[in-house]
Amino acid sequence: MMQKKQLVVIGNGMAGARAVEEIVARGGNDIFEITMIGDEPYGNYNRILLSNVLNGTQRSEEIFLNPLEWYETNQVRLLAGVRATAIHRATRTVELADKTQVPYDQLLIATGSSPFVPPMDGLRTPDGKLKPGAFVFRTIDDCTRIAEWAQESRSAVVIGGGLLGLEAARGLTTYGCDVHVIQIMPYLMNQQLDMSSGTMLKYSMEQMGIHVHVGVATEKLLGKERIEGLAFKDGSKLACDMVVISAGIRPNVDLAKDAGLMVDRAIMVDDQLRTSDSRIFAVGECVQHRSVVYGLVAPLWEQAKVLAEHLTGRNPQAAYLGSKLATKLKVMGVELASMGVVEPRDDRDEVVQFSEPRRGRYKKLIIRENRLAGAILLGDTAKAGSLMQMFDRETPLPEDRAALLFDLGQAAQQSVGDLPDDTQICNCNGVSKGAIRACVLAGKRSPKAVMDATRAGMGCGSCKSNVAKLVEHFCEGEMVEDPSAHYYVPGVPLAKPELVEAITARGLRSVSAVFATLAGGLEDPASKPGLASLLKTIWGAEYEDERDARFINDRVHGNIQRDGTFSVVPQMPGGVTTPADLRRIAEVAEKYQVPLVKLTGGQRIDLLGIRKDDLPNVWADLGMPSGYAYAKSFRTCKSCVGTDFCRYGLGDSMGLAKEIEQRFHGLESPAKIKMGTTGCPRNCSEAYIKDVGAVAIEGGRWELYVGGAGGAHVRKGDLLCTVETHADVLKYAGRFIQYYRENAKYLERTYGFVERVGIAKIRAVVVDDAEGIAERLDAAMQHSVDAYTDPWLEAHRPKTANQFASTIPLVAAHEGSL
Ligand SMILES: Cc1cc2nc3c(=O)[nH]c(=O)nc-3n(C[C@H](O)[C@H](O)[C@H](O)COP(=O)(O)OP(=O)(O)OC[C@H]3O[C@@H](n4cnc5c(N)ncnc54)[C@H](O)[C@@H]3O)c2cc1C
Ligand code: SF4
Repeated sequence: MMQKKQLVVIGNGMAGARAVEEIVARGGNDIFEITMIGDEPYGNYNRILLSNVLNGTQRSEEIFLNPLEWYETNQVRLLAGVRATAIHRATRTVELADKTQVPYDQLLIATGSSPFVPPMDGLRTPDGKLKPGAFVFRTIDDCTRIAEWAQESRSAVVIGGGLLGLEAARGLTTYGCDVHVIQIMPYLMNQQLDMSSGTMLKYSMEQMGIHVHVGVATEKLLGKERIEGLAFKDGSKLACDMVVISAGIRPNVDLAKDAGLMVDRAIMVDDQLRTSDSRIFAVGECVQHRSVVYGLVAPLWEQAKVLAEHLTGRNPQAAYLGSKLATKLKVMGVELASMGVVEPRDDRDEVVQFSEPRRGRYKKLIIRENRLAGAILLGDTAKAGSLMQMFDRETPLPEDRAALLFDLGQAAQQSVGDLPDDTQICNCNGVSKGAIRACVLAGKRSPKAVMDATRAGMGCGSCKSNVAKLVEHFCEGEMVEDPSAHYYVPGVPLAKPELVEAITARGLRSVSAVFATLAGGLEDPASKPGLASLLKTIWGAEYEDERDARFINDRVHGNIQRDGTFSVVPQMPGGVTTPADLRRIAEVAEKYQVPLVKLTGGQRIDLLGIRKDDLPNVWADLGMPSGYAYAKSFRTCKSCVGTDFCRYGLGDSMGLAKEIEQRFHGLESPAKIKMGTTGCPRNCSEAYIKDVGAVAIEGGRWELYVGGAGGAHVRKGDLLCTVETHADVLKYAGRFIQYYRENAKYLERTYGFVERVGIAKIRAVVVDDAEGIAERLDAAMQHSVDAYTDPWLEAHRPKTANQFASTIPLVAAHEGSL
């Protein structure tokens, strides 16, 4: 048998992983043993969708393109969280940070870019790190850090008014901060827009509550220990709690440069993506091809294909000839597309322009020799698809130029079915209408199946609705809804009610038993935490815990922080404490040199910065139960002082909060549950915006509100019922929570659940017992309440030998610690 060659890839980002996918798809596993080295501790994810993660419309788990199992299934050895530090061309090895040498026969460099951080006074600490409160926006970890800081910030500044800066600014508004964008150029997105459209875009951003400052240069960052503001060259200042720097990118070329490869602005490659060393190739943002360095994904898909054709010997003549760039802004609420040049080169270029500033609409075409050389569409991008097509293919343009911008005289808008077969539907992944047709004819009958097979919609996602329309069109009435959209978790093909029934009927008490019995033995890691939560809800104390099914926070009962340490929040029912408890907390904080002791928004005390191996001793010394500030469970009940001390008080909110906390503590649920009680409708403890809130009203009665939210999403809860006693509050709150636990999707907060199911239906089931299940719901809740044990008792009997051994986890779940 022919000995396989060693193919080593440095960089496990969008280009590197895509290239490996293309190589594997062409039988690359028979030719190569493939090793990927990536310094991010994850599988490959869709970086484009980080803006969605930041604005809260997607979770980071949802943007993975190649989860860790993908590598195993495809026989790719992944060194995740490992940095390559040198390429030794003489010995043909790559050196890793720990000095290990990885030999290669062929090497692919796909190291991408890093954010460019312009030198500014006051930006860094003496050891060269960004000062606390200063961030860049490139990775999942950056996103998590920004989101965490933003939650505690009142004012945020984004330096840079380009595509990414604006996406970051829009994302930051979801955290309730006052957001400012600082742009040194006279208008926004100066790479892709002209002065008129850039000025209109500023107006659109301002309509969203974002303050835009153009033509302003930052001179200095203010704040000694952390960012507190900016000083500008014109002498003015702006106070802020955080700053996100989005001032462009720089290709990561150091490895190539040090190895003596030809590097200009990026690593120079030929049409086969070969560097100046014939054994070494490069793809993605780190390359310079025919003097162009790209910063978008479309070119790297084309590069990956050509490289794979070449490396696998499928088509040694395959050549990459360069890409034409088009951009769509993904900022929620702004329609914007731009391609090619933005200004005419000389008098021979024709400019077709339409401007309606009051409505924020602007369209401009630059036509050169009857071909589209560039276009800007702001406020109405209906024509973006056809224009991108003409731009990309350099097709001759129709005489009637206005028809390029508007559907003039046409009875109805052109349907997707009328488009020519070669129309590019997914620009990011280069998928044409014809490819979608072929896929449907080959048997894929749902939008998801077609997207999985063609990758259409897997880039920025803006074409998804057109892909779905086309699938419907080609299926001619026989489209099937994708059943997995209704599964509780992706890895087990059952909706929640059927899954619960199957688990109960077959007595499945562990995650592995569920996979073995209901998923043909195929274990899907992404489905494990959701299943573990459901099993605990169903079985209470009889649930068989398997630690690998849990997030790190649940495994060690603490909230992991950005530096790998943990936070410890002991229970403090109703926010009430005693001198003795306070003394013990203070002693623990001193003994373990806890770097930060902080009051939380949930009226507890948070000890931050505790080492994993100290956790058991900290808990033992505290001698207080866990406050569950890390789990998908009941967290805390916030209260005001109520009748005991407040002259407006109509009910004993503090006493009720203690009863609530003692009943529901540790209760497993699909997502975190925060509760509140308030002694009168003045609402000092924000009960109206809690998952479940009790508000005392005249006559000593209580109004019970459900589905409130006061985080990134703000919603006043819906009134469920009005009751007379504390016992009734506990009963109806408990019944609602149980109904939610049984019917909500994993990670669906009560506000989403209440909106989805409708308060009328919930009231009918929970208050009026319309379905005759009230008694069963109450009994199930009681069963779970009885199963409560304090997880911090694991301090002296760890579940696994290394439960509290100090290692930085590969995939960390991050969450606020309220
Ligand atoms: C927030 C955001 C939004 C975006 N939106 C869009 C968009 O709408 N449309 C669009 O077309 N593009 C968009 N982009 C750009 C797009 O994500 C990039 O073009 C693409 O990710 C480039 O792929 P790459 O593989 O070259 O680099 P990357 O995806 O950055 O991958 C490089 C990887 O190599 C790793 N690495 C670097 N050096 C080493 C080393 N020495 N050892 C080990 N590993 C190393 C890096 O950590 C990284 O994981 C966006 C980017 C961001 C950050
Ligand atoms: S909510 Fe009412 S009872 Fe409670 S502290 Fe405020 S004013 Fe007093």
